Amino acid sequence: MEEAKRGYTLEEARARLLDALSPLPGRDTCPLHQSRGRVLAAPLAAPRAVPGFRASSMDGYALRAVDGQPGRSLPVAGCSAAGAPYGRPLQPGQAVRIFTGAVVPDGADAVAPQEDVRLMQGDLPDPAITLEGPIHPGQWIRSPQEEAAPGEPLASVGQRLSSVDVARAAGCGLRTAQVYARPRVALLITGSELRPAGHPLAPGTIHDSNGPLLLLLLEQLGIPVVGREWVDDDPQRLERALLKLAGRSDVLISTGGVSVGDEDHVRPLLERLGTLQFWRLFLKPGRPFATGTMAGARFFGLPGNPVSAAVTFLQLVRPALQVLEGATPEPWPRLRVRLATPLRRRSGRPELIRARLGMDQQGNPLATPCGNQSSGRLASLQGADLLLEVDASTTALPAGVAVMAQLLRLPVL
Ligand code: AMP
Ligand code: MG
Repeated sequence: MEEAKRGYTLEEARARLLDALSPLPGRDTCPLHQSRGRVLAAPLAAPRAVPGFRASSMDGYALRAVDGQPGRSLPVAGCSAAGAPYGRPLQPGQAVRIFTGAVVPDGADAVAPQEDVRLMQGDLPDPAITLEGPIHPGQWIRSPQEEAAPGEPLASVGQRLSSVDVARAAGCGLRTAQVYARPRVALLITGSELRPAGHPLAPGTIHDSNGPLLLLLLEQLGIPVVGREWVDDDPQRLERALLKLAGRSDVLISTGGVSVGDEDHVRPLLERLGTLQFWRLFLKPGRPFATGTMAGARFFGLPGNPVSAAVTFLQLVRPALQVLEGATPEPWPRLRVRLATPLRRRSGRPELIRARLGMDQQGNPLATPCGNQSSGRLASLQGADLLLEVDASTTALPAGVAVMAQLLRLPVL
């Protein structure tokens, strides 16, 4: 009872939500070069050894290490360049000019870098070298399986492919990847006070920021948006838009009208047209949040306040989309940071405070909150690197105190 009134904590909400979801049934065969960011539905494995031959990792001379006594002169029998092998076995007492990436001829077991070699003048076209330092068997030779052995796993089911995954698979000769279908998402922006960008404002109206915000966050995740509508706080129009958008999407996301005001129609409509799984979070920003199902789609009713919409999207919708796409939800990377400035707040709900990441003189991470933390103020999220996790009872945090933070910036590769 207490929980129902208070709402779920983020952890409770996330666990309940993700438990109720499973990957969508669709699969795509994707050209490898378009598969970055997609989730694998079948493992990738190397069809053969890569590079598949012993390759030089230096420009220099291939030879037998036993022939490599300093001062000994070795005739240069030919050349092995990248893509143009020497093609014959190296004979005892010989050297072969070699370049990085070229096949090390049979018979050779070391490469002497050219910096360690003196090329003997004269006697062309049969030059010779003498070595200036010792040679060790195997030196500067890449193994035929250095990048991959035949059948070696390159990426597993449920893995989201990075640029490096794609590049390594391409280097191993793969051309396609079997991936999960992506959830199709529709957006419903509700609120009688809202005008889409470019529309003139009447008194008391504002321009919509949740529409662009969600569209761009979804775009960043590579999720296709299949429908978008703006609707007043009018139950009939809302009902028509909800059913229409739910019918053509796997996930329907609305913003606004999900609280307890007289003009908040979204939750009652969800209860009537579909099923409400749960409602309300014990979280700031983001208390009004509802999820359930409607006309075969998973439904998320996000709060209207733009920061609340962004935070609930990142904390709950994003992991849900990951599960629907066959991926294991990736928790945000977290780190311990010290507060650069003191923080005062009202107790009541756990809070995610938007902050910038800096460094103290010793190079330790330092967090500076982004000013007024009003959930209507997108400026508090603009340029934020961190969400500081503050529990319900904390009211004052002095400068220098350590807090846990979620890192909002995503990995580069
Ligand atoms: P609601 O969740 O509908 O009660 O809205 C909470 C606050 O967020 C109100 O001040 C709304 O005007 C504002 N709001 C709702 N939707 C949007 C939107 N799409 N863009 C900007 N502000 C919004
Ligand atoms: Mg409203």
